[in-house]
Amino acid sequence: MVRVRLRNPDRVEQVEGPLDVGELLDRLDVNPTTVLVICDGNLVTASHDLPADAEVEIRPVISGGADGPSCAVCRAPAVIEEPRHRAAWCPVHYVDHVQNQVRKAIDHPQATPARERMFGYADRLLVAVSGGKDSLALWDILLDLGYRVDGLYIGLGIGGYSRRSQEICEAFAQQRGAHLHVVDLAETYGFSTVTGSQVATNRSTCGVCGLSKRYVFNQVAVERGYDVVVTGHNLDDEAATLLGNLLRWHEDFLARQRPVLPATGANQVRKCKPLYRLSEREMAAYCVIRGIDYVVEECPLVDGNTGHEHKEILSALERAAPGAKAQFLFGFLDRHERFTEAEGADDGPTVVACGRCGMPTVGEVCAFCRQRERILAVLPVTAGAAPAPPSPATDRNVAP
Ligand code: AMP
Ligand code: ZN
Ligand code: ZN
Repeated sequence: MVRVRLRNPDRVEQVEGPLDVGELLDRLDVNPTTVLVICDGNLVTASHDLPADAEVEIRPVISGGADGPSCAVCRAPAVIEEPRHRAAWCPVHYVDHVQNQVRKAIDHPQATPARERMFGYADRLLVAVSGGKDSLALWDILLDLGYRVDGLYIGLGIGGYSRRSQEICEAFAQQRGAHLHVVDLAETYGFSTVTGSQVATNRSTCGVCGLSKRYVFNQVAVERGYDVVVTGHNLDDEAATLLGNLLRWHEDFLARQRPVLPATGANQVRKCKPLYRLSEREMAAYCVIRGIDYVVEECPLVDGNTGHEHKEILSALERAAPGAKAQFLFGFLDRHERFTEAEGADDGPTVVACGRCGMPTVGEVCAFCRQRERILAVLPVTAGAAPAPPSPATDRNVAP
């Protein structure tokens, strides 16, 4: 019997062997374009034969497809296919493919005036790492490309999920001899995503979490002298956000949705998304090929998040027409000035310093300080959390 481990939810199935991977997926009724198949630590394609006693893992990812058994560059057996590029690659050339896409995003980002570079080799970069595949792969790629890049992990207080994520980020930093900042939301600001969202009734859990993360990314970067914050948002994330913004006609969000967000005032650093040309499936495959350990489980609080539904809809379109997702996003970015013109977003609202914390805001007090004050008014103040202007003083560095 072939022993098959399926993930999300975790379960084990036994299937009569021998058979090839394509037949196996067929019998389990799994769409081959939404998974990676891993056998003995290696990625395998649909034509790979499995002996009767094989052990395989089927790992879900979103998007993608299958054909072409040999590497587009060297003709060696391919381990991953990408219908969008009508190509397949061996492990070595797959890593090149991913790095080339990141190179292109950094050097010629769309929707950026004159396609000015995201950043250069002199810049100090801070990559926000969640422990997931995208951000750890991004850190790995930026280190390999020779950039000056440190990591930032934010402990959001989501139980065992947060603990495992932090351990994985620390292990990666140690292995690569890279520098990681760890900021615990509860220790530093007095509330976590879980406790905060219980009392901040005007925002969803993901809303509290997202606002807090964006604030901490910027604050840590400003206080520690980084020039740019980079995040692991990928093609699927950006396409799903675009669909959501279009469905609700959020024109102001559309005007701000691009791979480079320039700093518009003091105490603000530039934000960049160097993975916007790569899908979730491509990033998961990159991690497996490079041996990067990442958190496969989803955030337990993510249920009901509409971003996920939008991703599924786009993946169904991608299955019918490979490349649809990239066309959707890249086509929008190529026409982006239409949305900034409509909004007059180039001059934008005037950004000033928050009266409480000094970080940039368009009002008197920034959204993070307002949220925090509302939460702390209800929550008992946690030991160690200063009620006055917050600062990530509890940063525990994992130095090489
Ligand atoms: P998400 O908002 O979970 O889709 O994550 C988008 C990006 O935000 C990731 O690719 C990371 O770059 C960053 N990120 C998410 N969670 C964390 C975290 N706990 N600490 C640091 N960065 C994070
Ligand atoms: Zn090759
Ligand atoms: Zn503030």
